[in-house]
Amino acid sequence: MNCLLNTVFFIPVFIYAFYISDFNEHLPFIETIFYTVWWLLFGLLFLLYFAKNKTKIVFYFIISIFTIVFQLLKADGLFYSFSMYKPFVTHPLIVFLVFSGGSFILWNKFIRQVALLSDQLKTTNQGINKVFQDSIFSLAEIKAESDEQGNVVKLWIEKVNNAFESSFNINLHEVQNQEADYVFNLLFRNQFDVNKILLFERPKTLEFYAENLECWLKVSVLKPEHNKFYLIFEDITKTKKTIEELEAGKQRYKVLLEAIPDIFFVIDKDGMYEDFVIKESDLFKIEDASIVGNTIFDVGFPENMADKIYKYIQNCINHNSIETIEYSLNTPNGTFLFEMRLAKLNSHSVISVARDITRQKTAELNLEKAKIKAEESDRLKSVFLTNLSHEVRTPLNIITNFSWMLAEPDLGNDEKIEFAEAISQNGKQLLNMIENTIHLSKIETESVTAKVGFCKINPLVRDIYNQFLSQVPDFGKFKINLKLDVPNPVFGFDTDGRLLSAALGNLIDNAVKYTSIGEITFGYEMIKNEGVKFFITDTGIGIPKDEIENIFSRFYRVKNQINEASSGSGIGLPIAQHYIGLLGGELQLESIPDKGTKIWFTLPFKEGQGYLRVVS
Ligand code: ADP
Repeated sequence: MNCLLNTVFFIPVFIYAFYISDFNEHLPFIETIFYTVWWLLFGLLFLLYFAKNKTKIVFYFIISIFTIVFQLLKADGLFYSFSMYKPFVTHPLIVFLVFSGGSFILWNKFIRQVALLSDQLKTTNQGINKVFQDSIFSLAEIKAESDEQGNVVKLWIEKVNNAFESSFNINLHEVQNQEADYVFNLLFRNQFDVNKILLFERPKTLEFYAENLECWLKVSVLKPEHNKFYLIFEDITKTKKTIEELEAGKQRYKVLLEAIPDIFFVIDKDGMYEDFVIKESDLFKIEDASIVGNTIFDVGFPENMADKIYKYIQNCINHNSIETIEYSLNTPNGTFLFEMRLAKLNSHSVISVARDITRQKTAELNLEKAKIKAEESDRLKSVFLTNLSHEVRTPLNIITNFSWMLAEPDLGNDEKIEFAEAISQNGKQLLNMIENTIHLSKIETESVTAKVGFCKINPLVRDIYNQFLSQVPDFGKFKINLKLDVPNPVFGFDTDGRLLSAALGNLIDNAVKYTSIGEITFGYEMIKNEGVKFFITDTGIGIPKDEIENIFSRFYRVKNQINEASSGSGIGLPIAQHYIGLLGGELQLESIPDKGTKIWFTLPFKEGQGYLRVVS
């Protein structure tokens, strides 16, 4: 370029050779003057455009003026007007001056513009540099070196800022123009791969733990130019620690929430659920979609309850009060009872803490029931004790009196038999009552257990039948029947004969006691090969429907004429029921007042013990 620029100075020589000297024969001087002007202008423009040295241009301009003047002088046309008739083509010197002057003006403007822009660029660069240097983040400027194919082959550190120097305890001159890979591996003990972030995977940011510096660093990349990168290092140790603490706090919060037996809802002032927390351990599950965004009017509360909750929410927000409501909720896992507490969260929402009080309420209810039962039992016990003294005294008096009467010398045979029967019957009654009282006390102390062993049923049932026949020789107006389904005299199965006999005895005793006409039938029947159904039917006074539930309570007696006239303690049925339960059966009863009563229960009869089994 320098050579070309110097060549331009030969243009006047070229002009002289072609247009001015005597060699030029083809055109007169004056005709070539404008060729000279245009050539000189071309040279001037070339210099203006390419020359960096201003003197070169001025020098060329002066030579050009001399050349034109010289040619004009030689052609004797310095003052000759060339363009009398062509107003736009005037004196060559003026043409040259006008064009060169215009070019100078444009050139000058261009030069000033360039100077201005370079000034601005300088300021900008200074600004960037200042920002780079003063940034609180550690910055490194990296230059990429590429091969002929444009592939980056090396990354060089151009510069680092003050923060970088102080953070990583290194000086600029130690890292400047060093390979980035080498410097960062040295600084961060291979924890940070600069090639990975700039060339391979190119994530926008990357976090790593610099073990030697004991800090977490976050690196971000800026790429202002094709082969230039800025790496921004940010110490995020505090942020990381805060996140870890928050995580730990969250975990604590979760554990705490799990430990608190409550469900939390955030409800806005219009009754809309904004958020909720239900613990993993909660029995009932609520899907997010079925709560958040819905209002208390949509989630299944009865209308009046929803209205009540809405009113309480308003109270809570307006008066900053704490409101408590109890309600029940039907869920797929059953009905649950809740106690809801509402407290103001902010000016437009409340926090509702709902506690599942199902167990507590059930326990309270059971306690209440147990209390009533205990009171009733207490009352019945006193009645029983009063009865008992009467029950004991009556037969004892009869026995004592009749015993003395038996001793009368002039007593007839019939009378003797009658007195002896009275003594015997009252004695048995007394015995029965004492036995029942013993049974009850054993039940109370939970010392009765079923001692299962092979039990011959037919003899057992027949014994009870005979016992009643002998006890009540004249059944008056009613008949007593025995029904044994299996004729085999030694038929039996595994059960506790003692408990079975006591239960049957009490049930038949009742049937006899509450029947005055008709018949009593008792016995058993086989239910396939699986069970033995025992039954006692009578045609007695029956039991009113609303009393059936009560008669299984201890010491309870239905108020009726027979009970008022006869003895009884109200423990026969509960004892029978308890024993049958121990034997694996369940006492069932059907009764129609004035028609009669049917009581039955089925005991398990396992196969293999064959109801036709003969035991020697
Ligand atoms: P009790 O000593 O009064 O017979 P139980 O416990 O054996 O006591 O019976 C409770 C009540 O059940 C009796 O008072 C009676 O009113 C009623 N009851 C029991 N069995 C019969 C029956 N077969 N027919 C009518 N009432 C009966």
